[in-house]
Amino acid sequence: MKLYPLFAALAGRPVLVVGGGDVAARKAAALHAAGAYVRIGAPALNAQLAQSVACGDVEHLSGCFAETWLDDVWLVVAATNDRQFNEQVAGAAHARRIWVNVVDDAQLSSFHVPAVIDRSPLIVAISSGGAAPMLARWLRERLEILLEHALGPLAALLEKKRSAIRTRHRDLGSRRRFYERLLAGPIWNAVRNADAAAAERELNRALSTKQTRQTGSVVLVGAGPGDPGLLTLRALRALNEADVILHDRLVSVEILDLARRDALRIEVGKEAGHHRVTQEGIHALLLEHARAGRRVVRLKGGDPFVFGRGGEELQFLRAHAVPYEVVPGITAAIACAAYAGVPLTHREHAQSVRFVTAHCKESLDTLDWRALAAERQTLAIYMGVAQLQTLRDRLIAHGRAAATPFALVENGTHAEQRVITGTLAELPKLQRRHAVQSPALLIIGEVAALATELAWFGEQTLPAQAA
Ligand code: SAH
Repeated sequence: MKLYPLFAALAGRPVLVVGGGDVAARKAAALHAAGAYVRIGAPALNAQLAQSVACGDVEHLSGCFAETWLDDVWLVVAATNDRQFNEQVAGAAHARRIWVNVVDDAQLSSFHVPAVIDRSPLIVAISSGGAAPMLARWLRERLEILLEHALGPLAALLEKKRSAIRTRHRDLGSRRRFYERLLAGPIWNAVRNADAAAAERELNRALSTKQTRQTGSVVLVGAGPGDPGLLTLRALRALNEADVILHDRLVSVEILDLARRDALRIEVGKEAGHHRVTQEGIHALLLEHARAGRRVVRLKGGDPFVFGRGGEELQFLRAHAVPYEVVPGITAAIACAAYAGVPLTHREHAQSVRFVTAHCKESLDTLDWRALAAERQTLAIYMGVAQLQTLRDRLIAHGRAAATPFALVENGTHAEQRVITGTLAELPKLQRRHAVQSPALLIIGEVAALATELAWFGEQTLPAQAA
């Protein structure tokens, strides 16, 4: 984050706008609307500014810019169309550590003015940090439509009742649940109908209803393979409602960023080889937080029931009478295949697909290799990066053709996704050449050859190279 967002309390505080044209007039009006004491510094004013001066809304400092104009102001807006002059004003302000915005000049500015959606007292501000102001404006227009005007009166009512609500619900969790129940209820109709008295009655009713002690629960949530766009709406809701999130290491930062800010996050990530928190440790954490009445989200990469030990966790919760739900996620095989352009089944090539885990030598020994080597099927192999040599040797030994295509998808659905393709015979060699690392999903079968033809996401598929 390049800029730190903040909202300035300017009521009654002097601010300086330098410039006497349309832009300066717009800036002066916005600052005046926020209650600032606006001074306009310019040799001449346009009609609108002259009018504002005449009715006493703003004060006019006439003549050329003088450093004394900065004497007691809290912030400065330079809004002339003379860059050099703006630079001079900005320089003087910087020297005195006064916040300055130079209109349309991100470089000279020490603060930016966001695009704003005003549902006072609720304000939504958007900034692209000067990177793409048009994009910020476009987003503002879309949010204008989405954010209903009733938000304003509702926020005002909540402000009025804030201390009553805090007194009634002293701890944060209880307060949040109160707000959630309130906002899911009939109060909206009253504020939408501009019926302030009815809205207040609804709020008072909610305040006086007796609250039963909240029982904790666990939602086992599949976070998908990484791209936050592949989260389900249910998963998003669970993340928004969670008090505690126990997540795996594979869950992407972008997804964790969508969760409630004040939710407690605990990484229980497991790395191949050294488990950080044991499965028993995870069970204990789930139980501890659920028993304390919290809503726990157990967030796992992909789908919780595909090589995710979700089943064991639910059995444990059930044995301890903790209520639970499951939100499925898009598993790596489905997601990587889609993002690599590999249809897992195809009328001409494969009538079935198998999800296989190959994370260690012992797990490889338990597999039915004859069945895995059968033709006309696709294998989607999880956790296999360290075992590619063994995989190849055994498949070929059990009859799968050495020329069978593969696609190895590293960091599927992430911006850094790489897809390596080739034939089964060259699999270990190509993995070494491209230094493919976990997480990677291996697809073996005729369909894998389509990765080159159907690629659509990220960097172009790397073609198999001759030895
Ligand atoms: N429950 C998860 C799988 C957990 S096992 C799911 O349904 O997807 C972890 C393995 O999943 C990794 O070793 C890798 O093989 C695969 N995997 C998970 N995310 C991946 C990604 N973004 N790209 C490629 N493979 C991934």
